[in-house]
Parts: sequence; structure tokens; C-alpha cells
Amino acid sequence: MGDRESPICPVCRQSFKDFRGRRVHQRVAHPREFHGEEAQALSAFEALHLGARNINKEIRERGKY
Ligand SMILES: [Zn+2]
Repeated sequence: MGDRESPICPVCRQSFKDFRGRRVHQRVAHPREFHGEEAQALSAFEALHLGARNINKEIRERGKY
């Protein structure tokens, strides 16, 4: 499984100076592909968190009136 530590992005084939650089790129450029299930769980958590924030904002805005 040398592919996982390759400095070449498996998604867009861009090459980086090292594996760490590639990982940073993947996190930013391809968050869905990055670590598969882990990224999905994270985005689900973020959606939940953002939803909660929006609800709180709505409550605060409604409280003004
Ligand atoms: Zn890429």
C-alpha cells in the first residue's frame, strides 16, 4: 500500500514535495475524499453543529422583537 504515502494526490494527480503536503492539500481540496468515512462523519458533525448555530441565531433574532 505505497499509494497512501505517495506525495501525489490520488484524486487530482497533483504532486507535492512530500506526503504531509499532499495530505494538507487533500484536506482542503478534497474534504470528501480525505479519509473517506472519517471526513463524512466530520461533515455530518459540522452540518449538525452549523444547524444548531443557525437555530440559536434564529432564536436570538426572534428574541429582539
Ligand atoms: Zn488533489
